[in-house]
Amino acid sequence: MDQQLEKLGAKRIFHLGLGDDDANLEEDFMIWREAFLPKIAEEFGWELNTEAETMRLYQMELVEEGKALFKGEFGRLGAYERPRPPFDVKNPYLATVAINEELHTEHSDRSCRHIEFSVEGSRIRYEAGDHLAVFPTNDPVLVDRLIEMLQFEPDHAFRLVNVDEDASKRHSFPCPTTFRTVLSHYVDICAPVKSRVIKAISEYCTDEGEKEFLNKLATANEEGLKEYPRYIVKELRSIIDVLTDQKTCKPPIEYLLELLPRLQARYYSIASSPRLNEEKIAVCAVVTKYTIGDRLINGVCTRYLTTKLASSKSPVFVRKSTMRFPHRTTTQVIMIGCGTGFAPFRGFLQDRQFHKNAGNEVGAMHLYSKFHIMRMRISNS
Ligand SMILES: Cc1cc2nc3c(=O)[nH]c(=O)nc-3n(C[C@H](O)[C@H](O)[C@H](O)COP(=O)(O)OP(=O)(O)OC[C@H]3O[C@@H](n4cnc5c(N)ncnc54)[C@H](O)[C@@H]3O)c2cc1C
Repeated sequence: MDQQLEKLGAKRIFHLGLGDDDANLEEDFMIWREAFLPKIAEEFGWELNTEAETMRLYQMELVEEGKALFKGEFGRLGAYERPRPPFDVKNPYLATVAINEELHTEHSDRSCRHIEFSVEGSRIRYEAGDHLAVFPTNDPVLVDRLIEMLQFEPDHAFRLVNVDEDASKRHSFPCPTTFRTVLSHYVDICAPVKSRVIKAISEYCTDEGEKEFLNKLATANEEGLKEYPRYIVKELRSIIDVLTDQKTCKPPIEYLLELLPRLQARYYSIASSPRLNEEKIAVCAVVTKYTIGDRLINGVCTRYLTTKLASSKSPVFVRKSTMRFPHRTTTQVIMIGCGTGFAPFRGFLQDRQFHKNAGNEVGAMHLYSKFHIMRMRISNS
């Protein structure tokens, strides 16, 4: 696009900013933005207002009792009680967990779950090789820690309304709702904190030392660019960690909710074939769990999945993928996939098993994989 704009005669005011996700994307952005803003202001004769960056975009309105509230749905109120296809990122389907079992043996210190979701009656269609997106719920223990630290009434009903009436986005998450619902379903409270969030919350420190430290983290100078990657990126500090360390930092909850990024769905390779059972979708999820210093960090979605017992429900949708087996079932295939890289192949194996059982000729399949003391559930129940 950058080249295209230049070709079309656009006048360049500032260089294109590129970030390296393998290094530190946030740091790349901080450096670029630091020089970009003064240049733009100079070019257009604007006065740079440094307070604009932390200006609130939304205003909180309390909602009267008895009003219908969002309880974790995305598109429309009551979407889970009255599901309406098509199901996608804005309208996930509340699937029932049919099976959730551990694949590792007791000799392993790891965890990998075989989970089957029932989508019976939903009209969801999928193919072996597609992905299943799962919308997680944040750990209630972490939600309670935030409530305790910031001292607000979690079950108050409210809505955030964009102060700019012409803005295309009225709310930053489904409203009206409660603080607890937003913290559980709509905002990411575990991701490493962005520098602009740190800058915004620094205003709410009563201790000058803490305020200074947060300001340092959020500034793209030599010190900040050393400290932000160490304290936030390398040590993966979330908003909860930052507020735990900076004890006097108490931003209003509605402002924090405006600042935090949306909680994203996680994708899993579908490990089943609809030819065997079109009403069940299987995935294979390695549980993310690690420690940094004395902090035990659980992966948001895999922690959530481990708590989902059979018969419980979870919002999901299918995303089409380009990973497909050759059309001709007689074509020989070589499959290579370590750990959960094996997952889609389970679906393809089931596909060919179906054809074989139907009396069709099928080509040889060679599978190369490496498992850590793990069993694989080969067939669906
Ligand atoms: C197309 C696609 C298909 C996928 N298929 C599968 C699949 O079949 N099975 C599967 O298990 N996963 C799969 N994934 C990954 C999956 O989507 C999630 O990313 C994964 O389950 C972790 O999610 P989480 O919410 O539990 O962890 P998060 O809370 O998102 O945390 C994960 C992050 O934690 C950090 N992290 C993890 N381990 C460590 C460590 N030891 N030290 C330091 N930091 C660490 C990393 O930054 C990592 O990005 C797939 C992803 C994509 C995009």
